[in-house]
This record gives sequence, structure tokens and C-alpha cells, in this order.
Amino acid sequence: ASVFENVAAAPADVIFALTADYQADPNTSKVNLGVGAYRTEEGKPWVLPVVHKADKILVDDEYLDHEYLPILGLKKFRDASAKLVLGADSNAIAEGRVGSAQCISGTGAVYTGAHFLSKHYPFKGAACYISKPTWANHRAIFEGVGIPVLEYPYWDPATKGLDLKGMLGAMENAPSGSIFLLHPCAHNPTGVDPTLEQWKQIADVMEAKGHFTFFDTAYQGFASGSLDKDAASIRYFVERGFEMFIAQSFSKNFGLYSERAGNLTVVARTPEIKNTIESQIAKAQRAVISNPPAYGSRVVSLVLNDEKLYGEWTENLATMANRIIAMRQALFDELKKLGTPGTWNHIVDQIGMFSFTGLTTPQVKVLKEKYHVYLTDNGRISMAGLNTKNVEYFAQAVDDVVR
Ligand code: PLP
Repeated sequence: ASVFENVAAAPADVIFALTADYQADPNTSKVNLGVGAYRTEEGKPWVLPVVHKADKILVDDEYLDHEYLPILGLKKFRDASAKLVLGADSNAIAEGRVGSAQCISGTGAVYTGAHFLSKHYPFKGAACYISKPTWANHRAIFEGVGIPVLEYPYWDPATKGLDLKGMLGAMENAPSGSIFLLHPCAHNPTGVDPTLEQWKQIADVMEAKGHFTFFDTAYQGFASGSLDKDAASIRYFVERGFEMFIAQSFSKNFGLYSERAGNLTVVARTPEIKNTIESQIAKAQRAVISNPPAYGSRVVSLVLNDEKLYGEWTENLATMANRIIAMRQALFDELKKLGTPGTWNHIVDQIGMFSFTGLTTPQVKVLKEKYHVYLTDNGRISMAGLNTKNVEYFAQAVDDVVR
């Protein structure tokens, strides 16, 4: 008999299973709107030209070796990541109270921050509040480190926009010192972001209640095409003097999905506290991954620290952001043309990789079975999966299922 006889099987991951179903489907009209990865007009993955250039430079680098990185990762990458999100003129950086740890992409950065909080957050039993809905891994990660997870309202199905009142109400009612996980831009899965005015109201309540801010930024530059605009909410919180964790992913904005380049930026009250936090993260990181992988961070570091490559990167970002914005408009126009019942303004109002269409689970099922269109049960579509060749087909399928 096996010692594992009584282990229950875990369910397959929904997103990865969806991709597998799509790949197995022989239908030639099939459309994959599930996975959150950029696709070109031809429906292909895109190696950013600036990354391709960096690849070549790295291959030819005579000093490149395969030595271990330090436990907290590549210093040039960590510093450039913090500067990217907080701004080159950040006072917090100048004051020496910004720390960082290179992590296994955005997921690892969220995990590393959550794990630190599970050990060292002083309010024992404090819950982490996540938006309803959110990226499914948020719950899994925080529960995984033993932090209770609760939800705050976010999506308002009636307006297909932000439920600001519900969100602020939940913040007011949460016990002081709760942890709030916030998406600074391109909210996954809804594509709905607070305006700067709304962020001010959110910051007021966060401050009054002494809540801890944990930003998860996976789409800086990818959402609007502007690196500064997509970081405005975070920079505003830093200006207001919040201590915070910021999980950064370079999967989407560098197209480095499999290289797992990410960073946890820590904005602490003082340089001493920053040092203490980094020391504890280093101790914990040593026992989990020992030290992070080098390649992705070398690519990112090369580009962020070179003025010319940085400029090219911003152009590549604009290419991705603009194609996605154009696809939003194209889908909206097609639905309008068809006179599809319902309102569809939210498709163009939402931002970033995803759109929360409002399609129901039964409608999603028909899209998959009748039209070979793959999306998650909650009606979320990855805009990157649309292109000028399939947008009309998709709009017609949507028109059919909502009638
Ligand atoms: N956080 C959010 C909200 C995301 O949408 C994603 C990716 O989909 C991530 C974090 C992290 O992704 P990765 O670990 O691939 O960098």
C-alpha cells in the first residue's frame, strides 16, 4: 500500500486547463481569449524587439557566467525595478528607505511579501482583503501562508464599473490594521481601475484605519502605454507616506513570461526598518529558492539601465497597449453594428489585458461548444487574443449567445 493512498486529487488550474482544451481543439476558427499573454495581429507570441536585442547582447557578453546571484538577486535589477515603479525622482528612494528582493516573477513577489507578513505582521490574525473578483492566485497565496482572506466589493454588475462605495465601506468596516491587496492599474479580471480622485478617497480610508497597503502591479506600461500613468496610484500612496509592499511582474510588459523576472519593492518608514525587512526576506528566500534565476533579470536590468534601450522599450510597450486598445474599439464597433442587445461601453472604458464582458457562465459554455471560443467562466476575455481577422467572428458569436 502507498503512504499517499488517502491523498485527495486537486482540481486542475482553470486557466492552464483552458489553454490545453484550446490546443486540443482541431477547429480552425477557434479563438483563445483565456490566457493573459500578449499576442500579435497574427495571433502569435511576441518577443519584444528590444528584448531580442538584449538577448543578443547577453549572449555575446564575455563576462556572462552561470554563477549564483546573491540571495536577494541582481542589485542593478532590483534598484532599477524600484525606480521604475516609484519614479526616478522618488523621495522615498532618496531617503534610503526603499528595499527590494528579486523574486520568481509577480507570483513569487506576492508570495514573498505574503510570507513575510505571515511571520512578522504585528496584528496577529489580521486578514488580507482582496477585491471581488481578483486574480485567483491572490487567495491561494495568502491562504497558503496562513493569512485569512476576505473580500472587498469591487465590480458592480449593474454599472459594469467600480463599486467605489462598497469598496470604501469594506475598508471602513475592516478591523484597523487589516491588509489590503490593491491592483494599481489594469485590474485583473475586470479591467476597471479607480480614477486618481477615487484613489485619494481610498488612501484617506486606508490611512484613517491604519490598513497595510500591498500593491500588485503586473501591467505597468502595458495598460495605458505610459509607465508613469500606470504607476500614478502607487506614487500617490508613497507621497502620502504609506509603508507598503509592491509586487512587480515583468512577464507582460517585457514579454518574459517564462523567465520569471519579478521584484518585491518595499517602502519602509526608515532605512533601518528597510534593512531589517530585507534581512528577514533574505533569510526566508534562502530556504525556498536559495537565490533567484538570473536570465530574465539580466534582460530587464540591461534595458532599464540603458537610455537608448529604455526608449525602445517604451515604443514596444506602446505597440502592445495600442493594439489592445484598438481591439477594444473594434469589438465595440462590431457589437454596435450588429445591434447586440445590452450596453457595451465598458469594453472601451476598461483598460489593460482583460475585459470583463458581463457574459454569463452558460453563455461562456455555448461560446466554447458552438463557436470554439475559449474564455474563463466569469466572462473575462483577454483582449490580446483578438485581432482584425477574428474580431468579427467573435462579435457574431457573442451576439448569438446573448440574444
Ligand atoms: N498579479 C496579477 C494581478 C496578474 O494578473 C499576474 C499575471 O497574470 C501576476 C500577478 C503575476 O504573473 P507572473 O507570476 O507571471 O509574473
